[in-house]
Amino acid sequence: ARPLLEVTDLVKHYAVRGGILRRRVGTVHAVDGVSFSVGVGETLGMVGESGCGKSTVARSVLRLVEPTSGSIRLNGVDVTHLGKADMRPHRRSMQIVFQDPFASLNPRMTAGDIVGEPLSVHGLASGRQKQERVAELFQQVGLRPDQMNNYPHQFSGGQRQRICIARALSLGPSLIVCDEPVSALDVSIQAQVINLLIDLQRKHGFSYLFIAHDLAVVAHISHRVAVMYLGRIVEVAEKSELFANPRHPYTQALLSSVPVADPKMKRLKPLIDGDVPSPINPPSGCAFHTRCRYVMDRCKVERPVLAEAGTRHQVACFLNAGTGREAEIALSTSS
Ligand code: SF4
Ligand code: MG
Repeated sequence: ARPLLEVTDLVKHYAVRGGILRRRVGTVHAVDGVSFSVGVGETLGMVGESGCGKSTVARSVLRLVEPTSGSIRLNGVDVTHLGKADMRPHRRSMQIVFQDPFASLNPRMTAGDIVGEPLSVHGLASGRQKQERVAELFQQVGLRPDQMNNYPHQFSGGQRQRICIARALSLGPSLIVCDEPVSALDVSIQAQVINLLIDLQRKHGFSYLFIAHDLAVVAHISHRVAVMYLGRIVEVAEKSELFANPRHPYTQALLSSVPVADPKMKRLKPLIDGDVPSPINPPSGCAFHTRCRYVMDRCKVERPVLAEAGTRHQVACFLNAGTGREAEIALSTSS
């Protein structure tokens, strides 16, 4: 598919200051050189442990945080540095659904006013016409139009997320960024919301950047999946290819911890030891080297870049992108 969103070399660093002199003591590498694209009508799943920079990517794409460097193109237009007025038409085409539907809904507004607010802000509809459009949006997300006058607290968690989705739909976006949209919901409700998102995409043809820490959640909705680790994409491939043939040791570990047998079990014992290192002054070379069981000397000093590792499959690891000698080492290590 033609690319709708193209993110190139996105970097977001924050200074960490400490002591009474507030000296710079470190740098948070929240996003550390991330490139990806999302095609028209496509869903790119982005998965990684909390703190790996997924939300910062989401917020940078929507221009809610200013990137340190890199570029964001939407429909071929570089929107990275557009001012408020120039950004306005693009704001309509990019919408976001956040993790916590309660925190992102104004408790003093009725659900109908919340969903209709973007229409008013952008001067697209008012009065009767707006009411009709809002009623239609309610129906599209599986809410009843007679619930328009209710307040957020009168809805269940799943229903509140449907309100957020209706609000995101109201301006007819071409891209919806979903930042952990089902993580705060009961497991029994998660599938309903994801199926709704899939149905809406079939109907309207928009694209999703779908972010989650749970590979199982991403698997269902995505066409392609990007795996993030400490501010970097370490692997990206078509969903079926990634699941059948994971190349990066981190992806392999994540996949091995996806629960299969017992859906109530949150996660199985992962194959990797230790926690994610701090994004403040992250490990040199390959950021995964402190936890990788295939680590080589080279991994501690050189940073592997995303390189082709098959059809529409890219991986940032010396085992795969190298000359083949490294692959042999890996085989002898794992067998
Ligand atoms: Fe492991 Fe080295 Fe590959 Fe990083 S580059 S994942 S440390 S083998
Ligand atoms: Mg997050």
